[in-house]
Amino acid sequence: MRIIENEREALMECPDTIDHTAGSLLDECDRAYYYFVIRGLRPVYERDYFISGKAWDRALGRLNDSTLDKADRLTQARLAIRETWAHSKCEYVHENRAPDNLIHLLDLFIENYGFDHEYEILESNIYFRFPYKDFFIGGEIDAYIDWPGLGVIADENKTTNGVISDAYLAGFFLGGYANQLKTYNWACRQITENLWGNRVNIASLAIPKRKSTQRTLFQSLLIQPPEQEILDVLELYERRMGRLRENWKLWSWPKCGTHCEGGWGFSACDYRFICKISTRLGEEEVIPQQYRVADWRPWEGQKGDWEGLSSAEKAEIEERAGGSSAYEEDSD
Ligand code: SF4
Repeated sequence: MRIIENEREALMECPDTIDHTAGSLLDECDRAYYYFVIRGLRPVYERDYFISGKAWDRALGRLNDSTLDKADRLTQARLAIRETWAHSKCEYVHENRAPDNLIHLLDLFIENYGFDHEYEILESNIYFRFPYKDFFIGGEIDAYIDWPGLGVIADENKTTNGVISDAYLAGFFLGGYANQLKTYNWACRQITENLWGNRVNIASLAIPKRKSTQRTLFQSLLIQPPEQEILDVLELYERRMGRLRENWKLWSWPKCGTHCEGGWGFSACDYRFICKISTRLGEEEVIPQQYRVADWRPWEGQKGDWEGLSSAEKAEIEERAGGSSAYEEDSD
């Protein structure tokens, strides 16, 4: 696959929407943003942390489906994990991120929280694209909930393969995760006037091997970001859009990444193989076995994986996800 010449003319207009993921990539490296959003290049093999996070989020969404009884909710949540993995391609999967461990974690989650909660889930998986000044901010909010006595809360699920440490929790108040929460806070305000703040539901995938080891596996944080910090994040998006438009005008996407090969706390860049062998923009040789092409429009949602499976695949997954469960006896 050869990236085309005169590509700017052949492409669409400069993007008018920025989301948290693409915006963070632009902060890190203009060239990485170009490959990811403008060219739509995705590694054929996905990262295991991305898939396990998606699987966990979908499982919680189904666990909260109040139209189903408890047994069906649990079965559906397990299926969500199997389905997500069945439709994913990873070269390497850490054992903590694999479906069996996620299903074990799901059981522990129900032991910890049960099926019932004091708040009402108003809507799950909200895809948004709202105007801000002369562009749009987009993304997906996991859910928003009505918390008695507080008001509406924007809900976000997170998984970590480490322990839930103070340093990890601090990231929800300052830095990239915090900016993501503030983006969702602003987006939720476009939907409701009664927003109280954000909640983060954290789950640690590092289930102790020994029963005697005590470790916090789940933690919820309620956060009310100060008004000024919401405004600061909007300013950040405005600066990003300015940089994006300037890059588009000049057709300049510099290689300015600082963690190309990864490092402590950073994964290696997905595009390092292209970057290493290419010098001129538009003359990259992209190996089809390494990359596929896909649009990046998280604000439009995606077709459910389940719909894309064959009947045989569905039957196999249902069989693996089913079986007897202590919770099924508890159904009403
Ligand atoms: S390898 Fe480095 S320079 Fe190239 S796109 Fe990735 S971060 Fe940017």
